[in-house]
Amino acid sequence: MAASWFLAERVHERILAIAEPHHAEWVVSYLVTGPEAAVLIDTGTGYGDIGAAVAASTGLPVTVVLTHTHWDHIGGTAAFDRVVLFDDPVERARLADGFTSSAIGGLCDPGRFGPPFTPRDFTVPGRADAELVHDGDNLAIGGLRLRVIHTPGHSPGSMSLLMPDLGAVAVGDLVYDGPLYAHLPGADPVAYAASVDRLLGVLAGIDLVLPGHNATHAGPGLVREAARVLHHWQATGQDDIVLGAGRMRLLTHRTGG
Ligand SMILES: [Zn+2]
Repeated sequence: MAASWFLAERVHERILAIAEPHHAEWVVSYLVTGPEAAVLIDTGTGYGDIGAAVAASTGLPVTVVLTHTHWDHIGGTAAFDRVVLFDDPVERARLADGFTSSAIGGLCDPGRFGPPFTPRDFTVPGRADAELVHDGDNLAIGGLRLRVIHTPGHSPGSMSLLMPDLGAVAVGDLVYDGPLYAHLPGADPVAYAASVDRLLGVLAGIDLVLPGHNATHAGPGLVREAARVLHHWQATGQDDIVLGAGRMRLLTHRTGG
């Protein structure tokens, strides 16, 4: 099952996007390969065996770096020895607790899975051994350099990972082509807007944006599109409005309940 649950696409000579196109939310993880080690940014839903998918691509030691701890980004974390997380109490607790199948709940409804896949009662095991990082930290892993940018809003401890040597930034669930979730518990649309603005400020030299859902890669225009949506909300208070040609819109506490 693992091989066909995932869709792997090379988006850079050092970056393999590992998408889950048979789940309605089309989550994407990214395997970044350096000279001596690899980094896996997020681990997906856990429905497929992402450990096997990664092992098929690299024999190097793998460090998992999590953009945030919603279940669909940490599902396969148990397959890896080393995990890095932003130092935030909500994110720490959520990773430590993991998710029961009832907590995953409606996100596993059969209608969210494309045939021939049928959801089983799967859980996300917790783990409390994450190495914690902070805003501005520069991670050096096996010859790869990643800079931590705290980008809260979707969740309080969300982080983006800037890879200046590769001209890439992984943005987790802050920016993607679809409804932007600023309405979940712990989300904050004011912080969200500030984080998108902050991301706009680090785009010099970046030509590859790696979103957590709906596409394996994008250009910097995706961040600018998000900024338009957030700025529109800041100026008018109107959310859930699509600006331009994409599917991007902002869901806040007002629209999302
Ligand atoms: Zn999320």
